[in-house]
Amino acid sequence: MAFSITILGSNSAVPVYGRHHTAQYLQVENSHFLLDCGEGTQLQMQRYGLKPQKLNAIFISHLHGDHYLGLAGLLSTLHLQGRSKALHLYAPPPLADILTLQFRYADTTLRYPLHFHPLDMRKPALIIDNEQLTVRTLPLQHRIDCVGFVFAEKPYPLRLNKEKLPPDLSLAEIAALKKGEDVTDADGNIRYRNSDYTLPPKRARSYAYLTDTLYLPHLADSLHGVDMLYHEATFLTEKELKASQTYHATAGQAALLAKEAAAGKLLLGHFSARYKDLQPLLEEARKVFEESYLAIEGETFHITH
Ligand SMILES: [Zn+2]
Ligand SMILES: [Zn+2]
Repeated sequence: MAFSITILGSNSAVPVYGRHHTAQYLQVENSHFLLDCGEGTQLQMQRYGLKPQKLNAIFISHLHGDHYLGLAGLLSTLHLQGRSKALHLYAPPPLADILTLQFRYADTTLRYPLHFHPLDMRKPALIIDNEQLTVRTLPLQHRIDCVGFVFAEKPYPLRLNKEKLPPDLSLAEIAALKKGEDVTDADGNIRYRNSDYTLPPKRARSYAYLTDTLYLPHLADSLHGVDMLYHEATFLTEKELKASQTYHATAGQAALLAKEAAAGKLLLGHFSARYKDLQPLLEEARKVFEESYLAIEGETFHITH
């Protein structure tokens, strides 16, 4: 089943060389999420064949324009297309005022319920916890309040070994096997031992989205073992001082965090307009962490079990 990230934009500050402002489309099975919504996001979705009406929730990391200026446009389009399904928006608290003002002066009342979930920008929090997954926030360190998001599937049940499965099992007994229990008779004697009929579960997958921020080594613990880490890599190490002065990170620092967190893969993004050629950023990261990749627009990265 799907667990994929499509890059819609990965440039910082100013859009150049055909690169757009930050936005990503994340699909976890039947859940469709948008992470940040820079200018032009709805056009990028069209270009890559992604349907905004499918979105269940939008997550905004912080209120610098390159991360949310496409939002009012996208929300308006959903309204004009007649959406009736609710949409959830997880964002810094002041975004509610900004959107209210924009829609008030446009005399627009959205046709669909927009559920605004103000984020606690200072403390880690669990913001979604359902049968399928959890989403938690991690406060980052940037010029203004900013959070990262970690998406993690819930553990999968044991898989049934269909070749060995006795034909006379009831649905309740099958459910018990999936939970790791033995099947017993009325007297409590074991009829079917769990380990004889089940196989290890599928691996639960995870994705962390961290932009914009200084390099924060202490996050390695909470990110431990994440399958894919997206981390901003605005600059090369030669601009490390500028990176820290502007509350950004280098490709080398992003790679260091991926290594310390024992991540599966690292995605680099939020590139400075000073870099037309992105290969040096990739090379710098790969010296520290081999499984590094550039977040190139239009590419989809799949996380497998
Ligand atoms: Zn930014
Ligand atoms: Zn920013």
